[in-house]
Amino acid sequence: MRYDSLSEIRKDIEAGTTSCEKLVEHYLKNIREKAHLNVFLEVYAEEAREAARRVDQRIADGTAGKLAGMVVGLKDVLCHKDHGLQSSSRILDGFVSQFNGTAVDRLLKEDAIVIGRQSCDEFAMGSSNENSAFGAVLNADDESRVPGGSSGASAVSVQADMCLLSLGSDTGGSVRQPAAFCGVYGLKPTYSRISRYGLVAYASSFDTIGVFSRSIQDCALMLEVIAGADEQDSTVSREGVPAYSRHLDNNRTYRIAYIANTLDHDGLSEEVKDATLRKIALLKEQGHSVEPVEFSLLDYVLPTYYILTTAEASSNLSRYDGVKYGYRSENGHDLETMYKLTRSEGFGEEVKRRIMLGTFVLSASYYDAYYTKAQKVRRLICDETAKLLEEYDFLISPTTPTTAFGLGEHSDNPLEMYLADLYTVQASVSGIPAISVPVGRDGDGLSIGLQVMAGSFKEQDLLAFAKYLGAVSVSDKTSNYTLCK
Ligand code: GLN
Repeated sequence: MRYDSLSEIRKDIEAGTTSCEKLVEHYLKNIREKAHLNVFLEVYAEEAREAARRVDQRIADGTAGKLAGMVVGLKDVLCHKDHGLQSSSRILDGFVSQFNGTAVDRLLKEDAIVIGRQSCDEFAMGSSNENSAFGAVLNADDESRVPGGSSGASAVSVQADMCLLSLGSDTGGSVRQPAAFCGVYGLKPTYSRISRYGLVAYASSFDTIGVFSRSIQDCALMLEVIAGADEQDSTVSREGVPAYSRHLDNNRTYRIAYIANTLDHDGLSEEVKDATLRKIALLKEQGHSVEPVEFSLLDYVLPTYYILTTAEASSNLSRYDGVKYGYRSENGHDLETMYKLTRSEGFGEEVKRRIMLGTFVLSASYYDAYYTKAQKVRRLICDETAKLLEEYDFLISPTTPTTAFGLGEHSDNPLEMYLADLYTVQASVSGIPAISVPVGRDGDGLSIGLQVMAGSFKEQDLLAFAKYLGAVSVSDKTSNYTLCK
């Protein structure tokens, strides 16, 4: 009973061969059977069953919303009224959301059913989902490997059919990188496309909500439901939201550039490189223009990203002090030691590393040398990227330098871990939309993602192209990838 898209589900509901109730039971069974993958921090079994009965009734009455029949999971960074929320951190022990974030509110209003809350790297900091206070999450294709991060569990839930779609967050690649590692689609929209009201902040000038799905149609549909103006978030764009899901088919030929220097980078695996080159050759055969370009600032993107995001994180995370909510150390005997012990005990190692780095780059003596400089480099990266996107419809590159790595493989070396974000951070620093499309598998059967970037607010073109690319990948004889539709 594995469905890859809501339209397949709706067809079967109409034919009477399935129902929301049956679907929820199906996903709950998968969640139980695959509990060892450690994906869900909480499963809302009874609540999902009740919602399913309600939505089935609405479908029967002809009053159902656009997402009726869609069972979704939420990364543990999204506020969901009266449900726990802790960003996979001990510091938020016992915290319960008092309101729905805008994205969550909008998907519920369209009758999506939320099945549970999913693990992630603590405060969305990481590339392997090993930084969760609740233990590592396993890749369903090979359980000795990581699913990527930080939204690793949300990727696995879609990969392993524990829900149809999930929402994650992407600050530097946290949706695209795990999507590549788990063989699903992963969209990071334009910065400010989706309201962040009710999204736990990591680095506010980068944070976006993103979507994992097994079909582009579902991704497009979810985006059109949750995107757009919102009075609760002054940073969200008022740009109109097209009906993305209705315009996914076109026969255009595109002008595409591939970033050549991503392909001769030392860290790039041969198999990922081959899969990318094969896709480029295929696109050319199909009549698209595909040209190599250099992105001269590639080596500066990661340092710029890590200086700016740690600076913003150190400020955003200063609110967790044990006073009003969450974890409080028992051992503090005055206010200052209470603060110190709460934060020392409540945060994990990676989060503390970043708070310290961020505090350092913002300190009076180093502010100009690091923070101001990184802001200037960010401007250069944005300008160079925008210039390329004036000439080309899309920029493509591998999503990640390697396929999913082994559990524990990079845990002792944060710099090695940060390299997993090498290709995804350009879009985050520039604020442009990008998607990871599954395009093949390596010799070990691990999935390979191709990243497509487009100009700001060009999600419509990006999604249509991703759909086309996914379809081409399925029919590509040299690729053994058959899952995505
Ligand atoms: N892996 C990156 C980081 O640790 C990206 C995280 C994210 O996008 N939330 O910062």
